[in-house]
Amino acid sequence: MPKLKNIAPLKKWFKGINDSPLIIAGPCSAESEEQMMNTAKQIAAIGKVKIFRTGIWKPRTRPGSFEGVGEQGLEWLQRVKKETGLLTAVEVARPEHIDLAVKYDIDVLWIGARTTANPFSVQELADHMKGIDKPVMVKNPINPDIQLWIGALERFNKAGIEKLAAVHRGFYPFETTTLRNIPKWEIPIELKSLCHSLPIICDPSHIAGNTEYIPEIAQKALDLNMDGLMIETHCNPGAALSDAEQQLTPEQLNILINNLIVRKVSTSDESFANALESLRSSIDSIDQQMIELLAKRMNVVEEIGKYKSQKQVTILQLRRWEKIVTTRVRLGKSLGLSEEFIRKLLQLVHKESIQRQTEVMSKAKSSENK
Ligand code: PEP
Ligand code: MN
Repeated sequence: MPKLKNIAPLKKWFKGINDSPLIIAGPCSAESEEQMMNTAKQIAAIGKVKIFRTGIWKPRTRPGSFEGVGEQGLEWLQRVKKETGLLTAVEVARPEHIDLAVKYDIDVLWIGARTTANPFSVQELADHMKGIDKPVMVKNPINPDIQLWIGALERFNKAGIEKLAAVHRGFYPFETTTLRNIPKWEIPIELKSLCHSLPIICDPSHIAGNTEYIPEIAQKALDLNMDGLMIETHCNPGAALSDAEQQLTPEQLNILINNLIVRKVSTSDESFANALESLRSSIDSIDQQMIELLAKRMNVVEEIGKYKSQKQVTILQLRRWEKIVTTRVRLGKSLGLSEEFIRKLLQLVHKESIQRQTEVMSKAKSSENK
């Protein structure tokens, strides 16, 4: 169980935050004063966004990409706050970033996915937050490790941060998928069920990686009772210096927000329906991963087929097959699955694998004969 104490509801963060969901929007990175003011004014005009987000220091996977404008971006953010009334949020990754955010009166701080994955960095930031009364949002680590995510939340909470939220931004996929990061909805659902009072905000932009799937993911997050959305928005996405493909224009954001359906969790029937929806989402997400893995397995099977055909060996290797059955049945049983079920499943997978390899081999033969 997460050891999180006295977690404040979002409405306690600031006056004026009472309507759920909390909407946070703004560019991936601060690029210029003009870009910030132009984007912020249009976002504020929507009337439903409470917090303006932006990256001032950008943790990049590879060196040489745009690494953020640094301190001057905080001056622009202050102007955004003064002229639009929006609250402001930035990512902090170093204790100095916290000091600067305090100096420029930034309202909310967030910990990026790459930082959450490192307990040393998180502890250093948590220690530095002692005595600073600002809400902290913790993005999930890049890898799907719920304990690492909970651990980061606990470190801040132990340092006295009660205005705490988790941000679900998906997990790095091991295979290419249609989305930039796999949502693995079962993980934020588990987090919520372990700690009911912890607000969870979904970041559909980093899950999607493009603009097409953002509305669908945003709606799904609300249907799962998430408490808010963080959506990357830029006045001219095509010219953005980071994450250009996934940023919405303020106009697209407006349409998205107005099309969102917010369902209430009130009557007991509805809470039953919500619980069911959460569980079904877990199943959807697990099935998707299962099918992606099966497809990946078949690709490997085809690769093996190519080798077998080069070396002229038979498709069916009896010893290997027997070993597969014994090891998988043993694993299945240890996880509470019946032997009969595992055997049937393996037979189905094996049949398809043999068919794949037969196709590979006959293709190789026909090209030899040409
Ligand atoms: C971001 O919010 O721009 C960002 C860098 O996100 P993440 O840490 O989720 O990759
Ligand atoms: Mn980004």
